[in-house]
Amino acid sequence: MRILRTAAEVREALAEARSSGAAVGLVPTMGALHAGHVSLLDAARGSCDTVVLSLFVNPAQFGQAEDLDRYPRDEAGDAEMAAAAGVDLLFAPAIEEIYPDRFDTWIEPGKIGTFLEGVARPGHFRGVATVCVRLFNIVEPNRAFFGRKDAQQVAVVKQVVRDLGLPVEIVACPTVRDADGLALSSRNRFLSAEEHAVALALPRALQAGLAAHRAGDDPVRAARRMLDLEPGLRVEYVAEVDLDGPTLAGAVVVGSTRLIDNVRLIEEA
Ligand code: AMP
Repeated sequence: MRILRTAAEVREALAEARSSGAAVGLVPTMGALHAGHVSLLDAARGSCDTVVLSLFVNPAQFGQAEDLDRYPRDEAGDAEMAAAAGVDLLFAPAIEEIYPDRFDTWIEPGKIGTFLEGVARPGHFRGVATVCVRLFNIVEPNRAFFGRKDAQQVAVVKQVVRDLGLPVEIVACPTVRDADGLALSSRNRFLSAEEHAVALALPRALQAGLAAHRAGDDPVRAARRMLDLEPGLRVEYVAEVDLDGPTLAGAVVVGSTRLIDNVRLIEEA
């Protein structure tokens, strides 16, 4: 596995693979890799000849009061996991490589970015969309892999790709969870054992919502009722929305950690 820092290095490294018709897969991440990220790498490995992992903590998708400074960073550990997962190229650029001096062009998603996370985190999807387009331009992947854990992000990226006519297929992969049901997240490491136990109310509530939906009842009410039983967390939202299909999504704050999760309200094919 090669570790590359610049767009020029990536283009050069991929030129040969591309000229021989190899399919290139990109898995964009902010690092602090866990089994959720590895599942995306496995999916990329399964359908692409060359797998590129990008590792970039994107300042543009963090709000001023958010956790950019404390976001976990562990490039050495990430490189080890990436190599074990069969990554060919690890692209870990400096901020200036993605946002050079006087950078001043942004991708602003429309309606799809205006509710849920778009309200809770103003500017977040503008940062996500812009960095994805930057990465797609550098890597020119045939496929890019994203987790349904961030369901609205998937919907935003698909919209951007469709609207701008970008030649990349967006592949959405299922959410990977701890044995106890908590969706894996780089931010879970901030949870104490007690907070982790409290956070489990979120996947429990979403499952209750899914069960209610299947029984013909209101999933939001059922999920809310379950969350209200847990005084240790603050609910930011629980909502039924269309994110690439009907989805029950929730966001909660436990201690100083914000967690999001969702379930699809249709059976997976
Ligand atoms: P992040 O590093 O948090 O920006 O995530 C990078 C990619 O991994 C995104 O496409 C996420 O949706 C995906 N991802 C994060 N957590 C999980 C998970 N638990 N299961 C599946 N994909 C995930």
